[in-house]
Amino acid sequence: MADLPSIAKVVVNLALDREFDYRIPERLRGQLRVGCRVWVPFGRSSRIGYVVGVAEKSTWPDLKELMRIEGEQEQIPENLITLARWIADYYCCAHEQAVRAMLPAVVRHGKMKPRQHLFAWLRPGVDVAAELEKCGARAKKRAAVLQVLARHGGACEAGWLTREAEATPAILNTLVKAGIVLTEHRVVDRDPNAGGDIVLPTRPLELTPEQTTALARITAALDRRGPGVILLHGVTGSGKTEVYLQAIARCLEQGREAIVLVPEIALTPQTVERFRSRFGDRISVLHSHLSDGERFDEWTRIRNGRAQIAVGARSALFAPFQKLGLVVVDEEHETTYKQDEAPRYNARDVAVVRGKFEGATVLLGTATPSLESFYNCQLGKYELARLSSRVDHQLMPAMELVDQRAEASQKGGAPLFSRRLMQLIRERLDNGEQTILFLNRRGFATQMICQKCGFVATCEHCSAAYTYHKQAAHLACHLCGATIRAPEACPQCRDPEIRDAGTGTEKIETIAAKLFPKAAIARMDSDSMTAKHAHRDTLSAFRSGKIQILIGTQMIAKGLHFPKVTLVGIMAADMGLHLPDFRAGERTFQLLVQVAGRAGRGDLPGRVIVQTYTPFHPVLQFAMRQDYDAFYREELTTRQALNFPPAAHMAAVHFRAPSEMVASAAAEAFVARIKPQLDPGVELFGPMPAPIAKVRNQYRYQLMIRGGSILRLGQTLRPLVTGATAFRHEDVEIHVDIDPQSLL
Ligand SMILES: [Zn+2]
Ligand SMILES: [Zn+2]
Repeated sequence: MADLPSIAKVVVNLALDREFDYRIPERLRGQLRVGCRVWVPFGRSSRIGYVVGVAEKSTWPDLKELMRIEGEQEQIPENLITLARWIADYYCCAHEQAVRAMLPAVVRHGKMKPRQHLFAWLRPGVDVAAELEKCGARAKKRAAVLQVLARHGGACEAGWLTREAEATPAILNTLVKAGIVLTEHRVVDRDPNAGGDIVLPTRPLELTPEQTTALARITAALDRRGPGVILLHGVTGSGKTEVYLQAIARCLEQGREAIVLVPEIALTPQTVERFRSRFGDRISVLHSHLSDGERFDEWTRIRNGRAQIAVGARSALFAPFQKLGLVVVDEEHETTYKQDEAPRYNARDVAVVRGKFEGATVLLGTATPSLESFYNCQLGKYELARLSSRVDHQLMPAMELVDQRAEASQKGGAPLFSRRLMQLIRERLDNGEQTILFLNRRGFATQMICQKCGFVATCEHCSAAYTYHKQAAHLACHLCGATIRAPEACPQCRDPEIRDAGTGTEKIETIAAKLFPKAAIARMDSDSMTAKHAHRDTLSAFRSGKIQILIGTQMIAKGLHFPKVTLVGIMAADMGLHLPDFRAGERTFQLLVQVAGRAGRGDLPGRVIVQTYTPFHPVLQFAMRQDYDAFYREELTTRQALNFPPAAHMAAVHFRAPSEMVASAAAEAFVARIKPQLDPGVELFGPMPAPIAKVRNQYRYQLMIRGGSILRLGQTLRPLVTGATAFRHEDVEIHVDIDPQSLL
């Protein structure tokens, strides 16, 4: 016992950001491991915490003794405790906060138990014929139970058995008492797929030469069994998913495990089905709509090695595997990988770190790489593999630009629909082909404006104009969700000429219905998709051809693969281009390329109409040519000139307060404290009001800090936002965002 550690380092469920030392009692020394949940004395009461480390001795005198271990096995494996520590340091949050983010709540609370069912089987050596004879004509039920058991062979579930034999549990019991039948409770996983569609197994597809080369690179990295990152840059329709599937198969052959991250699991049903049909039971799909019991079982299945592949959104990265070989991050450029509450981690970047710690290969896949990832390839940190053509000899869609300024001066057009677009939609309707119309803004109109006095209906809680929703007959704030009834006259001057301005998907739908009265049209955005299976049902109606025109927001931008879609209309390509955000150009390029990629995924060639008021904007020009490299070069030059990511690291500090004065005063005080601590060459901008200056009655101020080492910057910022040394200002909420995705 002497060589076992005697001190446990524990974080408790308090945002103190400190590890507390406790003595490990003799009786627990053999069982206690890092990751265990433990009860410890704390102040005058006791608390539950996690063991994050062990030691031989402590620098603290008079340590209290740890009380007991909660649960049978350690909840968090040690590899994840190490990762949590890295997250806390890098993203400037409390250690305990990072640990919590890794465990589903149902696991953390520790109340859920595995589900058990009773199983029954015949005692070996029992002479069934003789027993049946004993039952005779009177004990018919008893005989029926024996017959079912004999026919079934092996153990069967007791509930099923009694139903099948039309008997009662009491009859089964008499057989158990007589020593003829044996029973036992066994763990039965709650199956999230029970009653779902039957999945047909698939075999690996034949690869194109480019896919073969890419897979060979990934396989070589897996075979090295050390860390490595590969960026798989493949155009839309180039078969990235098949490469993922075969790389995972290789990883499993090595006896190792794999994680697949997708941006939003509900929006990528087709991708998830492909994984399920290739790997069957070995896969665990971590949906957001799993019940607590299902989530608990899935987590336990992974923890115990019964599932070897975890597929899910952001938090699936923390699947408690012990032999991780591969992490796939699909659509690595997506902003949904960044969590917008503490810990504000980016799952793509943390995947790279987990891979490094655990000797796993990390595969980042996309048609439109983030500037950061492509830059890392240039620096030699990541390997680059490319798929430049589509599979099955499909062509990239033909892109056509329509200048809406010229269109507006012509006769015979309709609002928002160019004549070219209308003509092509009509052709599709005549030929039985399908159309997708994309506009990244929901609602009917983006504003209500009085034609007389210029009044704009604005949310009283936020600095944002209300969006007009015609069907619901209300104005809604897309920042805070507040709604009011749509006014019939201007609230300011009482003029009835208050009008809607700007366009949302609802207006596109209304106009499309007038232009193409015989077509079946559906709209897919977060307003129309509120019912539970609405998303799935709409997609299956579209697949079967019941819907001819599908209108939607970014919800329809990615992952969809419908062979009959031969036309994509991008209604307003410049919509996101002029947002006050340094990533506006990058986002627009990515969206255009991804949406265009939905066209021509079958035997028929695809066409994309891009409507715009700024046809010569370089971002649109690069997207029209699908020329990522040229886009990257131009965008990187700008970022380097301005010292923005990926040329420099960036952190933002946000201040939220009920009054503008308080927010600004807190920000000033924070600057006074941090400025003397910054390394030379690090630039600090602000404090300044955020571009969206007020949300939910909270005024927002921010600082931007750029340049220098991000690790050093984290070391400076972290003590200011966590633990006892944290900077405090009455009524002000402060948070740090490292590598922010948006500055709005
Ligand atoms: Zn007015
Ligand atoms: Zn609002």
